[in-house]
Amino acid sequence: MPPKSAPKKSKPRRRKFASPKLLLIWLAILILEGSGVAAVSAYWIFTPGQEAAPAAAQLAPTHFQLPEATPASAPTATATQAVIYLPTPTKTPTPLPPTLTPTAVATQPPSVASAPQPTDTPAPPQIQHVIIISIDGLRPDALFAAEAPYLDTLIAQGAYSPNAQTVSLSITLPSHASMLSGMLPEKHGIVWGMPYIGWPGMNGPTLFSVAHDAGLTTAMVFGKEKMNYLVLPNSVDQRFGADMHDSDIKEHALEIIQAGLPHVLFLHFPDTDRVGHASGWMSPNQLQAIAFVDNLIGEILAALESGGYLNTTLLIVTADHGGHGFNHGDDSPEDRTIPWLAVGPGVRVGVTLTRPINTYDTAATTLQALKLPIPPNWDGKPVLEIFK
Ligand SMILES: [Zn+2]
Repeated sequence: MPPKSAPKKSKPRRRKFASPKLLLIWLAILILEGSGVAAVSAYWIFTPGQEAAPAAAQLAPTHFQLPEATPASAPTATATQAVIYLPTPTKTPTPLPPTLTPTAVATQPPSVASAPQPTDTPAPPQIQHVIIISIDGLRPDALFAAEAPYLDTLIAQGAYSPNAQTVSLSITLPSHASMLSGMLPEKHGIVWGMPYIGWPGMNGPTLFSVAHDAGLTTAMVFGKEKMNYLVLPNSVDQRFGADMHDSDIKEHALEIIQAGLPHVLFLHFPDTDRVGHASGWMSPNQLQAIAFVDNLIGEILAALESGGYLNTTLLIVTADHGGHGFNHGDDSPEDRTIPWLAVGPGVRVGVTLTRPINTYDTAATTLQALKLPIPPNWDGKPVLEIFK
């Protein structure tokens, strides 16, 4: 288990190699990083048996119980801002109940929410924070197959697309770069899965640099060391980025939230991808990993509720790519199709999005929600369909 890293202040892309010996060491590190060392360790965590089940059970939040008197099952409750993220007691823990299908939960027609209301209806609070959660390697059908009550509830209470697409280069670095920069890979410049000697660095702006330049606070927590290459100088106030596991990401997220939620927070959970590489996409192990991260997200939601942030936070949950077999990276629908969910104040409830969504729309939607200008050179467009 690598140690938790301190926030890094400098971008580590200017590595120099003074001698052939150092070059060999660097190549060896690259090989090790690419050979699935982390994947193997993640595999042990989620191998069915003694490790996985108790860990997930211990993480099952007990503080999400709504008061018994709350009529959360009524459709009107889902439109109440104060409880917008809370799982409803009507969720049954049995796997794959038919009511969990995104279309089935759209019990409240959008026209009801957007129709003219009596003048005493309070205006929805403005979005002051955006949290982007990327679950590495999460296929929408894997999310559907996994036991994930928190994410299922968020889908029921937000606007969701099970058919969003990542870029054609469906690997972690280029895809995340597009998600966070609003640009195609050929424009942001990260077209390799692992940086190489002489790589000139990423082209901006990113959503973080735009937000930071506008005076907003920003933070990133990610579980793969190489994602440090996605960070432009002077764009991120707090950064925890190293080869970590999902539970480490959650811990850093809680620290940040409890210290005061920044305007923009990016959280990357790496283990669903690692387990996919070790055990296969859609394997029981991977579905267990998704159930595990779902519980972690439940803890994060509880922290947001405790901090009073639910009424002012837009939450976007998505993935960088899918996968098939034991890998990903090609143009197949299994690799390119990703989930894309928005939930928060002013966001439509229980809606399945029909507009084609690409991962680079995530950055534009974030800036739109924060009322920041979207750079004209971006490929991404805000997903306006999510808003009431
Ligand atoms: Zn990935």
